[in-house]
Amino acid sequence: MFDPDQVALRPPTLWRYREAIPVKPLVTMGEGFTPLLELRNVFIKNDTMFPTGSFKDRGAAVLISYCKQQGITSVVEDSSGNAGCAIAAYCAAGDIGCEIFVPASTSPDKLKQIERYGAKLTLVPGSRADTAAAAELAGESTFYASHVHQDHFLHGTKTWAFEVVEQLGWSCPDVVVLPVGNGSLLLGVHMGFSEMLDAGLIDRMPRLIGVKAENPSKTIAHGIGIVNPPRAEEIATAVDEMMTVSDDQIIQAMHALARCGHDVEPTGAVGYAGVLTLDVHARVVTSLTGRSLKSLVRL
Ligand SMILES: *Cc1c(COP(=O)(O)O)cnc(C)c1O
Repeated sequence: MFDPDQVALRPPTLWRYREAIPVKPLVTMGEGFTPLLELRNVFIKNDTMFPTGSFKDRGAAVLISYCKQQGITSVVEDSSGNAGCAIAAYCAAGDIGCEIFVPASTSPDKLKQIERYGAKLTLVPGSRADTAAAAELAGESTFYASHVHQDHFLHGTKTWAFEVVEQLGWSCPDVVVLPVGNGSLLLGVHMGFSEMLDAGLIDRMPRLIGVKAENPSKTIAHGIGIVNPPRAEEIATAVDEMMTVSDDQIIQAMHALARCGHDVEPTGAVGYAGVLTLDVHARVVTSLTGRSLKSLVRL
């Protein structure tokens, strides 16, 4: 485990916790150590400030560094959203070939960012599960850089917990509220707090609350529109409590954040929407997980 005194002397990136990360920073864009701000009695961690605009860069930086370390020259992933963007961007940064599988029904606008990073897009007819199966099959001959299944992705997202504890003066928050789709953030954060507890850097776990969409099959929060997360059992074990929020609550939270200067995408406001339903008497931290989409430049 890292030594807080050493960490304090290092550059402000997630790699300052390098002793706790199982790979070297072979593919990095200076990511991490995002601001922790106090907003109306709540701490919000601004993970919109990543190269691709979402926390998925935490996982992609570590997973693609692992690929580089292993000499892997091309990967596949399945996601039409922020995970696809993050994997495509880090592959571009690391000069690794990248193919992203997406459902054929995906809106072309959503795919523009992935394309700009130079990834190959493969449209798969059928359901989201069919797309995952196609990526898994292709991964047998290359490498399946899955944000859902690869534990190296979680070794990246766990740095969120390290940063929060350091930014609170090496103390543990009371409550952590996070959006949950496939659980790549929540499972990583749980891992991060557990590792700090084992190392004696904190003396208890925070209360971990997961927030889901009331209706994941048709929510405006696309990033958590996951009906059957493959790691549901692990998620259930990691959280102390699950709650749901409606699209109306998500929109209200999004507007409340924008009125404070934070322009997030709907999924990026889900954690805050969860916090707004709580009666806050303790030290609560949530994450702004992704920024609002910019209007697209036609090139
Ligand atoms: C992916 C994503 C989530 C949900 O993360 P999971 O790993 O699927 O639980 C939340 N917010 C944003 C902005 C995302 O991109």
